[in-house]
Amino acid sequence: MPATGRNYVIAGAGISGMTLALGLARRGANVVMLERSPDIQEFGAGLQISPNARHCLDQLDLGDALDRVGLEPLALDLFPQGAQGPSAHMELGPLMRSRFGAPYSVMHRADLADLLYKACRRFTNIDIRFGVRNWDVVSHAKGITLAVDEANGQSRTTRADAFIGADGVHSHTRRAVLDGPDARFGNRIAWRTLVPFDLVSGQIATDRVSVFFGSGFHQVCYPLPHRKQVNLALFMPGKTPTPQDQPRPAQPGPRVSAIVAAAGQNWTPWPLYTVETATWHRGNIALIGDAAHAMVPFQAQGAAMGIEDAAILAPLLATSTNAEAAFTRYAQLRQQRVRKVAALSAQNGRIFHLPWPLSLARDSVVAAQGPRAHLARLGWIYDYKAGTST
Ligand SMILES: Cc1cc2nc3c(=O)[nH]c(=O)nc-3n(C[C@H](O)[C@H](O)[C@H](O)COP(=O)(O)OP(=O)(O)OC[C@H]3O[C@@H](n4cnc5c(N)ncnc54)[C@H](O)[C@@H]3O)c2cc1C
Repeated sequence: MPATGRNYVIAGAGISGMTLALGLARRGANVVMLERSPDIQEFGAGLQISPNARHCLDQLDLGDALDRVGLEPLALDLFPQGAQGPSAHMELGPLMRSRFGAPYSVMHRADLADLLYKACRRFTNIDIRFGVRNWDVVSHAKGITLAVDEANGQSRTTRADAFIGADGVHSHTRRAVLDGPDARFGNRIAWRTLVPFDLVSGQIATDRVSVFFGSGFHQVCYPLPHRKQVNLALFMPGKTPTPQDQPRPAQPGPRVSAIVAAAGQNWTPWPLYTVETATWHRGNIALIGDAAHAMVPFQAQGAAMGIEDAAILAPLLATSTNAEAAFTRYAQLRQQRVRKVAALSAQNGRIFHLPWPLSLARDSVVAAQGPRAHLARLGWIYDYKAGTST
């Protein structure tokens, strides 16, 4: 059955929610999005968008717009602890396009969000309501009933066929509507900042991703030419930080020291939470993205998994006899893959932060791998083709 005329409500206009809205609207459905913030959220910094995610976005005809705001790094350089130069690199650039049919690129999260938002605005059948205060949803035999307190203080009750919670790691849909767990804080902080390229030009290449390993930390850096900035993310153990805290990696080596110093006091702490739940749906209500499966960002796949969720779920909702059947199939298709990606991300976190002298073993394994070893090792992630064109 085509989705034409069907009605869906999505909570959260983040990357996952807007990708789903576009997939549904292109299939003729009417979509209402409830966004808690007064506008599209510009939080976050850089994102690596791998070919599996890009494939889904290309299906939504966003490829050209993505090319305009992103950079296709030529490689990912890996620096052992304290080293001045890289010991290995993973080739990216044109190789990723030819091997996986879509590029590996880096961009600012706000540019991706803005591009998705502009695409949503072109659809008259997508209605984004910003600044919603509270909402409550119940599932029943005919779909869902939703009560919303809107930004202007008015309360409204509406009906729809189904409700999808794309409301992020601390999802109200997961915790309050589906009785799911709270997100878990794993005592790790991502310290993020953006600096003008000139400040770190002696330390970081302009055409690639640089990853520095350390004892108990690692740092990921890449240029965002569209913004004339460099994205810096420093991952370290830590408790919930106070506003005065700044990152102090142990034995960082001269390059990491110089990069950290260049950023001054401008680091923003980002406590890393994860979500594990087997309950992704009940009745006509389901979860996608971080709301269902937030993971540590050590394989750079969190947003990619939300984008894939959306690309799988939109055609299922359009073709299934009812939403519950679509959600059941969606969970069957997605859960195993997402668990595997989350497990790899967690494992990377342990390996990346090994203390000395175990870090020496890691560094020698990294140095021994060839520049194309990742094509076989990570091909199962990048080669995944979610969804089909409308
Ligand atoms: C340091 C770091 C680096 C990362 N790097 C990468 C990377 O390189 N590649 C990658 O793929 N992923 C990466 N990720 C992960 C990625 O950022 C997330 O997985 C992704 O942004 C999740 O998108 P989402 O739309 O599911 O959730 P969110 O982006 O959190 O969006 C949720 C939306 O819901 C809204 N909302 C919340 N509650 C409510 C409510 N009750 N009602 C209505 N609206 C609500 C929020 O305001 C928000 O707009 C990284 C994460 C971190 C922390």
